Amino acid sequence: MHHPAAQRITGMGATIFAEMSALAARTGAVNLGQGFPDTDGPPELIDAAVAALREGANQYAPGIGVPALRGAIARHQRRHYGIELDPDREVVVTTGCTEAIAGALLGLVDPGDEVVVLEPYYDSYPAMIEFAGGVRRPVTLRAPDFRLDPAELEAAVSARTRLILLNTPHNPTGRVLDAGELAAVARVAIEHDLIVVTDEVYEHLTFDDHRHVPISTLPGMAERTLTLSSAGKSWSVTGWKIGWATGPAELVAAVTAAKQWLTFTSGAPLQPAVAAALDAGDAFPTALAHDLQERRDQLVTGLRAAGLSTHVPEGTYFATTDVGELGWASGGDFCRALPERAGVVAIPSEVFYDAPDAPGSGRHLVRWAFCKRPEVVADAVRRLAAADLTR
Ligand code: GLN
Repeated sequence: MHHPAAQRITGMGATIFAEMSALAARTGAVNLGQGFPDTDGPPELIDAAVAALREGANQYAPGIGVPALRGAIARHQRRHYGIELDPDREVVVTTGCTEAIAGALLGLVDPGDEVVVLEPYYDSYPAMIEFAGGVRRPVTLRAPDFRLDPAELEAAVSARTRLILLNTPHNPTGRVLDAGELAAVARVAIEHDLIVVTDEVYEHLTFDDHRHVPISTLPGMAERTLTLSSAGKSWSVTGWKIGWATGPAELVAAVTAAKQWLTFTSGAPLQPAVAAALDAGDAFPTALAHDLQERRDQLVTGLRAAGLSTHVPEGTYFATTDVGELGWASGGDFCRALPERAGVVAIPSEVFYDAPDAPGSGRHLVRWAFCKRPEVVADAVRRLAAADLTR
């Protein structure tokens, strides 16, 4: 019997992260593909989750999240950014930021609505825009500096535009949008009366003097911005899948309405644990960002020594190289050959573009994760240095 898939998923293969992690497992390569740390989050956080499990926090949490976590999220936004939120109406807990993205797009986008999205894009954005029946209008952050061009942003907006989907610090480029770029987004959003949905999961993972500024703090933006984040990156628990959406009650209600039909409610014992971590302050994320900056430098130095021209990221888990100079027409070909050539796995950024062959686009770009222990990064760098990476 033949069971064809529904049209909405036909042609959607496994995500590049699943494909590349499977490739790493199959070949025993060092996995610098999928972005997840190889050390645990703080022991107090793990202990708090164990205690919650033992104390019986094992039945459905309220759909919008347990009060302790919603309160902690509101306090976090006030402490870091001076944002005031009503935890009962302006905060919803989601199953990772991925569900917040799904909820935002399903809850806010009608069929035919256009969504302006930064490109390269995290792969769940186009998938969920499609599920919602929306039309994506990418604005490319062009290599090598990956800056947002305000004129291109303006040109992507039409009478059908419903929202701008932002992501800063940006995966995969590692850019942290600066004041000028954020002001340009705000100007366009206000002028065209658009909603901004902003994925800020790497908010605490910035380097050197780069600082994350939530676009909702710009004048005129709080009332039109839905901010998404999660505990996974800041507290090194990517498998916990506890995220949140915050902002105007109406936008949060749209996410909540969609969320109730997706997961209904998110991991009950993990929520009080994350609440305690948020309230415990910033020691863990601050130390993590410091560590990651060292790993970044270690990887960037190693990639360059292996002959790969590398862009220095301002935040996130990821560095980007251009493999075109080594004779590769496609980063995908490079990444599929890499386990055998060098025993390393990386992610081809070409899958994050609508038109990877356009000027400044990503056909030749490859993303490397450095959220790994120093000895793992050192091992990868040694393997790359010993390999012939030319086409
Ligand atoms: N956000 C992580 C990355 O970009 C993991 C993504 C995933 O596995 N879906 O690598």
